[in-house]
Amino acid sequence: MKFSQLAQYIEKIEKTSSRLSITHLLADLFKKLSSQEIEKTVYLLQGRICPIYQKIEFGIAEKMVIEAAILAFNIEKSQFNNTYKKIGDLGKTVEYFKKEKTFLKKTSPDILAVYQALYKTAIAAGEGSQEVKINSLASLIGQVDPLSARYLVRIPIGVMRLGFSDMTILDAYSWMLKGDKSLRPVIEKAYHVRPDLGFIGRQIKQKGIDSLTKIGPKIFTPILMMKAERLTSAEEIIEKIGRCAIEPKYDGFRLQVHYKKSGHLSEVKLYSRNLEEVSFMYPDIIAGVKKEITAKEIIFEGEAIGFNPQTEEFLPFQETVQRKRKYGIEEKAKEIPLKLFAFELLYLNGKNYINAPFIERREKLTSVIKQTNNLAKNILITAPEKITDNIKELEILFDDAVSKGLEGIMAKKLDGIYQPGARGWNWIKFKRSYSSKIEDTIDCLIMGYDYGKGKRASFGIGAFLVGVYDEKADKFVTVAKIGTGLSDEEWLELKKRADKYKAEKKPAIYEVDKQMSVDVWLEPVIVVEIKADEITRSPVHTAGRKMKPSKTGSAVEVDIPGYALRFPRLEKFRDDKRKEEVTTLEELTNMFLHQKNN
Ligand code: ATP
Repeated sequence: MKFSQLAQYIEKIEKTSSRLSITHLLADLFKKLSSQEIEKTVYLLQGRICPIYQKIEFGIAEKMVIEAAILAFNIEKSQFNNTYKKIGDLGKTVEYFKKEKTFLKKTSPDILAVYQALYKTAIAAGEGSQEVKINSLASLIGQVDPLSARYLVRIPIGVMRLGFSDMTILDAYSWMLKGDKSLRPVIEKAYHVRPDLGFIGRQIKQKGIDSLTKIGPKIFTPILMMKAERLTSAEEIIEKIGRCAIEPKYDGFRLQVHYKKSGHLSEVKLYSRNLEEVSFMYPDIIAGVKKEITAKEIIFEGEAIGFNPQTEEFLPFQETVQRKRKYGIEEKAKEIPLKLFAFELLYLNGKNYINAPFIERREKLTSVIKQTNNLAKNILITAPEKITDNIKELEILFDDAVSKGLEGIMAKKLDGIYQPGARGWNWIKFKRSYSSKIEDTIDCLIMGYDYGKGKRASFGIGAFLVGVYDEKADKFVTVAKIGTGLSDEEWLELKKRADKYKAEKKPAIYEVDKQMSVDVWLEPVIVVEIKADEITRSPVHTAGRKMKPSKTGSAVEVDIPGYALRFPRLEKFRDDKRKEEVTTLEELTNMFLHQKNN
């Protein structure tokens, strides 16, 4: 397919504000693509050239695109910048000049040619690479038609902003094959083990939908991480899963470790919750894995937590989190060394352990970690665990964990399988209770913000709208507009982050009541952890809200009000979570039902 045809599809998607229509457009587009084209197109639609866990970034800043455009159009910088100021959008400015400069030839390259050129641009590195990037982008701008040019320059600077989620693409694959979304569960299951949307599309085209069931773990491709359900008493846990393994719940950050050894060579890659490769941040853990793992190939998970070698105590989250940094890594590693509490095995020496019972996974994992009794020396430690079906004993383990300053405990079903990407009852978290009615915090997506009045007007932000994820509808629905409880620094930080993701209009996957509209809509990127006192019901929030036709029949009115958070406050930014990983509407509903005194 020609890139110009793809650009026409992108334009239609951009103009559409219905999630379903976007899915249909994508399905229609996918139908027309070859297996190779679908793979590359899906990356390009996401503003990338590879899946999210591979570290190839374009390395192209806005000013480099401007340089490339000036070169392609042979104009003065001031001329470009003046027009850019008027139009206010870089893609459209490039499109405008492309229309003006009719002398430029149009060769109408196909998608694969554009992809190849962008790929080469992205991997150019080292001395002189800026020149290479600018020149090749200029050459591409020269070749394509005006509309293609608009999108071509948006891809490398990461502003495609088409307002759909990974799940929309999975749905579109199903629509492409069957004309409905009935195949989504099969496709999604494969995606959880191999979260590479391009690969999944290619596989479907090349080998058919049935081949997806055979997809297993692959070293250096992170697997979507399993999540825990929540309960609030020892009794409920035993009633739910019976005899189970109890482990402390450490408050650090989760890492998925991929390790491969061949001969004297060994390689380790570490992935965070949102599938980002974070190996460079944790040289101490890398060294620990190389030294203490006795397997040839392994994928396992654990919680990394800061450790004070002097007092032999574990550090609170606020200190551990200082290890997440891009600079000064070695010094911080000395100051705050990490331990990795290993708790899950997914793959070992060619064998897939995802469907093995928990108890078997644990035993195998323990058998491939060299352990001494010297806490200070080991980097890897298998999380201590106790198997019990006794409520009293479970309560004692919980109290013990809390008294050590930990978050609580994790209860694991003995014969439970590992469920990639799912939140299921094979893991249950039981956290210490706060003074509020809700036991747990809620992870929300920031959907937009208001400018604010009074003192806050000087910050440019006075309140922000947050929502949870309605998985069934693949939409984000609102639960609170938060205007208090942040320090001045937090407001400023929030504003700085938010302004990177301004959207032109409300994204199609947001469902928001008119009364909750905001001054600035944001792309679905920023995830925050919110603590609230209570979940209440409110007609102006769309989480769980049901509408019905009004008596006159000409409009709709609220039938069942939505859920809203009472006294919401910002706990922390959750950069380790993707938008799909925020609290779901289903979880929120459960939390509402299990609220104290409810
Ligand atoms: P929370 O905010 O409550 O930590 P979450 O939304 O980050 O939850 P959940 O899946 O709900 O993630 O809770 C499980 C998390 O707890 C894991 O992602 C992991 O980071 C952490 N954890 C700490 N100790 C353990 C353990 N022993 N077993 C499994 N997970 C653990």
